[in-house]
Amino acid sequence: MKKFHMIIDLEKCVGCFNCMLACKDEHVGNKWLPYTDEQQKHEDKWICPELTERGEAPYTEVTYVTKTCMQCDNAPCIKKYPDVLFRRSDGIVLIDPQRAKGNPDIVNACPYGNIHWNEELQVAQKCTGCAHLLDQGWTEPRCVQACPLHAIQTVFCEDYQWDQLVETQGLKPITSGENRPRVMYKNLYCYNKCFIKGAFAFDKDGIEEAAVGIKVELLINKVVVAETETDFLGEFKIDRIPKDSGKMTIKASMDGYDPILVDLEIKDKSVVLDCYKFGTDELGKPAVILPNEHANELAVQHMTKADAEETKEAYGK
Ligand code: SF4
Ligand code: SF4
Ligand code: SF4
Repeated sequence: MKKFHMIIDLEKCVGCFNCMLACKDEHVGNKWLPYTDEQQKHEDKWICPELTERGEAPYTEVTYVTKTCMQCDNAPCIKKYPDVLFRRSDGIVLIDPQRAKGNPDIVNACPYGNIHWNEELQVAQKCTGCAHLLDQGWTEPRCVQACPLHAIQTVFCEDYQWDQLVETQGLKPITSGENRPRVMYKNLYCYNKCFIKGAFAFDKDGIEEAAVGIKVELLINKVVVAETETDFLGEFKIDRIPKDSGKMTIKASMDGYDPILVDLEIKDKSVVLDCYKFGTDELGKPAVILPNEHANELAVQHMTKADAEETKEAYGK
């Protein structure tokens, strides 16, 4: 039988909260019995994007991690309250709204915080996968339908097809995975891996220039494990580095200069390096827009046509 699954893509989610609002719109003030009683207006969020941050000033990246019930195949909540929670043949885990009344402890049956206590109605509740809509022929729940960037996707497929998708799309659970969640994440590296960000510059005729298009390598134990090039601002980023990877070295090479070697250590955070300058021990300015014509030209090349026209007009170039 085809089962319910969700894929949440962290590279696409912008934290617009449409999914949460659509869930509220569907469930606040509406009783969808026997699936669920109505959701509280201001409290529980059955789906919610959570803001996470990597890096540090002057370079940070924000990722929204949208979380909801993961419809675990090996659900601890069902194990703890087998008379209250149950799994449908399509894999959706539901709470019996009658049997869940008056027992706030049911909330603790989910180790991931996805069961909520409705104080007004004195009942434990959670995401229903919008089963009441699916049973009427809907092909996706309200939150999925409302996501403007298709960051959430529902997939109905056999278990073996899901296993193939997990493999081919590199899907990962946000938990340890031992409870076999049916909600998995794409591009989870935005949340659980580290990056190294930095910039390189050099002096030309007394003016600091961005070191554009130079080779930047990441070495661990003197072995190159990743390679990239600086962009038009002289910046580079190497991402998807596992936490606690330990000591490593960034090596930047530019014709006519000795290479720059920067030792660093990856613990549990991303690392943002200073702006290093070729041919000197002085540090450069953090790479923003460099104050010279060449850099501005390069910046304009990377803009959309409309932006470029506007910029040229504003600066008379
Ligand atoms: S995420 Fe929590 S509530 Fe949802 S099925 Fe798993 S254990 Fe149960
Ligand atoms: S599937 Fe339905 S109940 Fe679950 S979070 Fe989305 S909108 Fe809410
Ligand atoms: S609607 Fe989509 S983009 Fe917006 S917060 Fe939810 S998952 Fe992210």
